[in-house]
Amino acid sequence: MRAIRVNETGGPEVMQYETIDDPVPAAGEALVQMEFIGVNFIDMYHRKGLYKSALPFTPGTEGAGTVVAVGSGVTAVKVGDRVASTNFVGAYAQLALAKSDRLVRLPESVGTREGAAAMLQGMTAQYLTTSVYPLKAGDRCLVHAAAGGVGLLLCQLGRRIGAHVIGTVSTEEKAALAHQAGAEATILYTKQDFVAEVLRLTGGAKVHVVYDSVGATTFLKSLDCLVVRGMMALFGQSSGPVAPFDPNILNPKGSLFLTRPTLGHYVHTPEELAWRAGEVLTWVRDGSLVLNIDREVPLVHAAEAHRALEGRRTTGKVLLTP
Ligand code: NDP
Repeated sequence: MRAIRVNETGGPEVMQYETIDDPVPAAGEALVQMEFIGVNFIDMYHRKGLYKSALPFTPGTEGAGTVVAVGSGVTAVKVGDRVASTNFVGAYAQLALAKSDRLVRLPESVGTREGAAAMLQGMTAQYLTTSVYPLKAGDRCLVHAAAGGVGLLLCQLGRRIGAHVIGTVSTEEKAALAHQAGAEATILYTKQDFVAEVLRLTGGAKVHVVYDSVGATTFLKSLDCLVVRGMMALFGQSSGPVAPFDPNILNPKGSLFLTRPTLGHYVHTPEELAWRAGEVLTWVRDGSLVLNIDREVPLVHAAEAHRALEGRRTTGKVLLTP
């Protein structure tokens, strides 16, 4: 099969399109013919070596396709099933393995394109708004990078719940997209002081939760946007990791809560995975969650997809096609 291989860590150029042996499913695993592959920030962290992987490796964890073989003991899926997952091993390939209990069977009305696009960003927006800080009607929330993949979904879910969403973005074009998705107000955080803007927009009342995927450039100032006992949900670091800080700062700012969640811990059991994925796919089917697929890039040009995501040129999901 053809796959992207990382033989040494580094920039996008280290991703080589190579021919390697087809994987063979072990007990409990399924082999999937990939139709669409999700590109995520975490793939770039592995490519750069920030997160360690044994070399050489095939990057990627997300995608959707059709089961073509199963290992012994697999009952959750069968050959011919259309499935999606965020737990493939080496998703940037024509064929990829996953543990069968990490696969989500797609309903008839959801294609593999939507399935691949919905999984990681959709379940992230779902767990952030239902479990990390359960958003209620009337709550005020701040969503950083509101025109990004997760950001656009958070705006939609916030509006659906009846919360007031303020979104930060870097350009006017992105502001328009965030508005369309459900942000009542947007802040150009590359030009405006977002703390002052949040205070102005809320009449000094501040927000109940900040969903922060940007990290280094937004984290500390975000703490000044929160109500007493507000929730700081730092779920990413698109601008770089947050520098070490003294947890005592959470006290004078209002006995704030801080969490650094990751999707894996919110889909820990097959039951929880089925619940979160099921909700997201239901919303996609009934139109209450609209997926914004920014671009599809042929697998051979995976480096281009990484450059676009790192260069802030995307708004929504980036998919690779094998
Ligand atoms: P996005 O589509 O949000 O892309 C990143 C966006 O971040 C950019 O478009 C840009 O928006 C903003 N940004 C701000 N500063 C920078 C910078 N220096 N370099 C690049 N981008 C910057 O990506 P995703 O929706 O796929 O993911 C968002 C973040 O959430 C990632 O950090 C990812 O790792 C994390 N994540 C975490 C999960 C978890 O469970 N913890 C699960 C899924 C994603 P703008 O131009 O408007 O500033």
